[in-house]
Parts: sequence; structure tokens; C-alpha cells
Amino acid sequence: TLISTQTPTAELQALDSAHHMHPFTQGAGLAEKGARVITRAEGVWLTDSEGHRILDAMAGLWCVNIGYGHDSLAEVAAQQMKELPYYNTFFQTTHVPVIQLANKLAEIAPGDLNHVFFANSGSEANDTNLRMVRAYWHAKGEPDRQVVISRKNAYHGSTMAGMSLGGMAGMHSQGGIIQGIHHINQPNYWLEGGDMTPEEFGLARARELEDAILEIGPEKVAAFIGEPVQGAGGVIVAPDTYWPEVQRIIDKYGILFISDEVICGFGRTGNWFGFEYYGTKPDIITTAKGLSSGYIPIAASIVSDKVASVIDTVEFNHGYTYSGHPVAAAVALENLRIMEDMNLVDYVKNDIAPYLAEQWHALGDHPMVGDTKIVGMMASLALTPNKDTRAVFKSPAGTIGYMTRECCFGNDLIMRHVGDRMVVSPPLVITRDEVDELIKRARKSLDEAY
Ligand code: PLP
Repeated sequence: TLISTQTPTAELQALDSAHHMHPFTQGAGLAEKGARVITRAEGVWLTDSEGHRILDAMAGLWCVNIGYGHDSLAEVAAQQMKELPYYNTFFQTTHVPVIQLANKLAEIAPGDLNHVFFANSGSEANDTNLRMVRAYWHAKGEPDRQVVISRKNAYHGSTMAGMSLGGMAGMHSQGGIIQGIHHINQPNYWLEGGDMTPEEFGLARARELEDAILEIGPEKVAAFIGEPVQGAGGVIVAPDTYWPEVQRIIDKYGILFISDEVICGFGRTGNWFGFEYYGTKPDIITTAKGLSSGYIPIAASIVSDKVASVIDTVEFNHGYTYSGHPVAAAVALENLRIMEDMNLVDYVKNDIAPYLAEQWHALGDHPMVGDTKIVGMMASLALTPNKDTRAVFKSPAGTIGYMTRECCFGNDLIMRHVGDRMVVSPPLVITRDEVDELIKRARKSLDEAY
């Protein structure tokens, strides 16, 4: 069969479910329903095979920060493919795009985050980080420091290490996790705050890190990993007291700190990186997604002088065939050039994020909307039958969220649901008019689902 964008939608759907296994999807259910076929995109707008124009309020999977349709990325990729489509950086070789990108990232990343180890995805970068923090302590003569502390409901990827570092119960239940990972509770005040004030709750949840370190034994703990804002967990924003206390505990016990910036990085919070929003001091940061705005797979662990100076004394037996792929590096560089050219981080901080925040919080007057949270260009709202008691719907968790998402779909708006939390993370280039359109469609969808 000749398959093209001209093939009728029903046929494409049937061919898709016959041979394509989708991530995080129940295949049988999808086969019945048929996947929505996306054919083109421009700015914040997708087009599907039926000709609908859909507002992509998720920037793909939180990644298309500069928006769709920047031709120069394609041109740079084509040029690099002609000049040097591939070479590796394993055995004492290098190439210009990887040198340029590593230098650029060292320039953008604040403080002593000056060294870059490349991978192809956020999951792989977190695999790298897990291996790197253990190798660091091994090289320092403390090989017992193996345990990495993470949080429930965190998302750090889908590989064995990424999944294990993450705290998604639904993933852990399908085969278990690797050794040496310990999970503490998340700082989700809306769901778990009980009678505490947000400030008390933030401190209490941070202090679980100290409890865990003492329980495991400080001499066995290698690192703590956390997303500044838990993205895939539902855009969970910790109370203000949380991160300063976490940083105090990290400093007190001298463990390493990995900030997973796969979503929060590259402008999403109105800073280059999410940790800058909270003023924490990571030793390693995980980046992917916005690094290339999703135009090509690439990820980077950005590593401090402190860690790199130790790792550099040994042969770190780790790497991927495509670490620092020249085409991906060239595309990422062009993406960063565009971000700087457009002053995109500044646009987020001083213009579009405050505007979105105003509109987003206004959705809080909807009878079904409780909590509204937003940091930069990532936002969530909790659906509730009773705002005052922070009640949850009695229907199985996620039912109302799923229904709302379906209504959004019907209104040509891509909004994601995480259980009964609705989340958005639009391209950073979204305009005020497009934000208005997003909010209008979101409100209509909430009304329909209510
Ligand atoms: N870390 C975080 C915070 C993420 O949100 C994700 C993906 O959503 C990952 C890691 C994994 O990245 P990837 O899907 O590129 O492997």
C-alpha cells in the first residue's frame, strides 16, 4: 500500500493500529477509536488529516518551545547532513557542531555548570546522570554511596533507570524498579496537604528528604533528583518553603543534586532553567525537549566543575552511538540562536507568562475548578466537586479529567489530563490572542464536561 497524507483518515487509522504500538496507550482501545492523524503544524497550530486546525496547548510533549514551522532548522540539518552526517566522539575524536553546542550550553547555564555529556532523550540523560553520580562517588573513594532519592509522582523517563528514578506507580507495577532508588512523598499540597498551611506542608515534605537520608545512612546516599515543577505528574508546584529547605538538607549532607530540567529548561519558567526560578544549586541538570524544541532528538546532562573534575580523572565507561550527533547538535544550536534572537526567555518572563497567569487563574471561578497553578508557561488546574474541602471526584480517578480532555479535543484544543488535573504547556511563542483562544476553548470544554 502507498501510504501518504492523502490516504483517507479511516484507512490511516486502521493501518496505524495494525502495526504501530503507541507509547502509554492501550492498543485495543485505540484500535476501536482510531488515532487522530496530525499532518502539518505552524506556530502553535496543528492540522489533522480531516483539515481541523488544532491549538496545541501542550507544545507536542512540552517540547516545541519555539513553535512549529521554523524552516532554518531544516536548512541547518540538511547542510550538516551534506557536510558531516555522522561522526562519533568516543575514542578521542570530536567535531565542530558538538564543540559549538557544548560551549553554548556552558555559556547559557549559570554558575559552574560548564561541562556537557550528550544523549538522545531525557530518559537516556537521566540514565547518564544515575551512572555519573555513582561513578563520582566511586572515584572519590566512597563506592557505598549508591542510593538516589527521588519523589513519588515524579517523571524522569521510560528507560529502566528513568522509570526507576521516576515515581509513577503505574510504571513501577509493571515489572518493578532497579535497586538503589528511594522515593519520598511529593509536595502536592492540594491533594495531600491535609490541615497544614502550604508553608508547613512544604517544610514537612522537604524534611522527608532528611528523614530518608538518616534512615538509609548518609554514607550510602549519592544524590537527590527532582524536577523544579513536577510536569508529567500534573504540574505540581511546591509551596515556597519547599526548595530552600531541600537545598539546606542537600548542603548539610553533601549529597549531589540533579535538577531534571527536561520540561522546565529552555525558557519554560521564564528563566533559561527552572532551578533559577527557585534559586537552588544543582550539581547536574538534565535537559532535552526544549534544547532542540523537539525538532530532532537530543539531550544533555550539564555538569558542574565539581562533578566533572572528578569524573575527568577516570574513564567514565558510558556513552551512546549518537551522543552529540552532529546533525542534532547543529539543529539544537540553531534552536538556541532563534530563542536568543527572539528574546524568548524575556518574552515569557515579562510578557506572555504574566498574561497567561491572569487568564489561567480566572478559570478558578468555574464551579468544577479548584486549585489553579502556574509557573511561567506551565499550568495546571485541579477538577473538584467541592473547592472548599479540596474534595476529589468519587468516580475512578481521571474519569472527569479524561472527559474534559475529550471535550478539549472536540473543541480543537490539545490539553492534557493527569488524573483529574488538567495541564497546559504551550509553545513559548504563543501570542496574547492565541492565549485568549486557548482560555476560551478551555472554558467551553470545562462547561461541556461539567
Ligand atoms: N524528565 C522529565 C522531567 C520529563 O518530563 C521527561 C519526559 O517527559 C523525561 C525526563 C524523559 O524524556 P524523554 O521522553 O525524552 O526520554
